[in-house]
Amino acid sequence: MKTLKQYEFWLVVGSQDLYGAETLRQVNEHAKVMVEGLNADADIPCTIVFKPCVRNSNEIYDIIQAANNDHSCAGIITWMHTFSPSKMWIRGLNSLRKPLLHINTQFNRDIPWDDIDMDFMNLNQSAHGDREHGYILTRMRLNHKTIAGHWEDRRFRERISSWMRAAVGAFESRRLRVLRISDNMREVAVTEGDKVEAHIKFGWQIDHYGVEDIIAEVEKVTNEEIDLQMAEYASLYEMATEDIASVRYQARVEVALKRFMDEGAFGAFHTNFQDLQHLKQLPGLAAQDLMRQGYGFAAEGDWKTAALVRIMKLMAADLSGGTSFMEDYTYHMEPGNGMNMGAHMLEICPTIASEKPKIKVMPLGIGNRQPPARLTFKARPGKAILVSIIDMGDRFRMIVNDVVCQEQKFDMPKLPVAAVLWRPLPDLETSSEAWIYAGGAHHSVLSYCLDAEIMRDWAEIMNIEFVHIGEETSINDFRRELAYNDVIWKLK
Ligand code: MN
Repeated sequence: MKTLKQYEFWLVVGSQDLYGAETLRQVNEHAKVMVEGLNADADIPCTIVFKPCVRNSNEIYDIIQAANNDHSCAGIITWMHTFSPSKMWIRGLNSLRKPLLHINTQFNRDIPWDDIDMDFMNLNQSAHGDREHGYILTRMRLNHKTIAGHWEDRRFRERISSWMRAAVGAFESRRLRVLRISDNMREVAVTEGDKVEAHIKFGWQIDHYGVEDIIAEVEKVTNEEIDLQMAEYASLYEMATEDIASVRYQARVEVALKRFMDEGAFGAFHTNFQDLQHLKQLPGLAAQDLMRQGYGFAAEGDWKTAALVRIMKLMAADLSGGTSFMEDYTYHMEPGNGMNMGAHMLEICPTIASEKPKIKVMPLGIGNRQPPARLTFKARPGKAILVSIIDMGDRFRMIVNDVVCQEQKFDMPKLPVAAVLWRPLPDLETSSEAWIYAGGAHHSVLSYCLDAEIMRDWAEIMNIEFVHIGEETSINDFRRELAYNDVIWKLK
């Protein structure tokens, strides 16, 4: 995956002409030092671009227009080093089309007790300049994030980094193409949705192709291409089957799918096991290995989850931990030790494996094709989130649950798929009730690299509803929040 440094965030520092040239020179000087300091920090994933401070309505409008039109700019960061009267900002902010982060910081950390005078006070006045700015953002009901703290503070930088990743997710969302191979699984509701609304809200261009379009591509794949793909499998996975012909078939399908997606600039795809036409196997290993490379995937026609896998993988690009398509499968309901086992028929991403994945060929309980090759493994322990997007009819809702993935002590020798075992917060019963009341799907995205705050930021940028199930969740409060949200989103 590409590094996140390609995404730019413009630091727009507000001021006004009242202060005179010398103060404005110092404002720019300080902003430059800040930008250089932040860009030199390995924890800041993207590039911050210094822009000379803006002093009036025209300059503000012009820089916001330039940001809107810039293909590398993933968002703007505003900061009022001095006082910048906010009526000057209305025209520009009315036209803003990029995500907005408002930082409330100050160049100096400490008050210089012995030297402080009125010149110092006039220069370093974000304490009130940022309040004026915050008023207009709030008054205009602009979706934005505010982060306060000293710019050299670690926590402040971590929060900026997290927000940047959310903005990168929004940036990529707005140019995502999703390949639908066939339609949704028959009769299933939660994986359905309004694709036109998703295009408007998220920017997803969701296009259907027939299975035969893919098969035509599968038939073109050469033996040399299959050999190369098999060598790649051998370098990454353990071959735990003697049925090499079946593995080679998955390699053939992977080469075809990858070419089809790259030629059409698709970032995500779904299959549907009910509609395979004369594909010999349901794509298992092929889908898993494509997810490893960053493609979004979901099964059974679930284009929403496929898109979300892609976006979350891009947000987490350089972070370790892994992100995968997931499905709630089976409960462990031992009193005081409630857990959920996630898996799928085949398609769990090997980036979440705790061990070298094994390639196996086994029959599939559902469907009527040849036994497909797939990767099996145990997922790693650690904190993670589960994320689902559903269509409420009048809006999209994102549901996030904090979970703790457990070390898997049992070998489960008869289980033919990769599996994850997690303890959902606050506990299995409350989490399940909250998720079900919220309408969360059985399909989701599991990520060890991202957290609820970053997903909240992304949902806010995309202007969709967000609910979070975590340590603090109580079921009655959560239900009340859902009821209130129903009213709030009807008014929006
Ligand atoms: Mn499924």
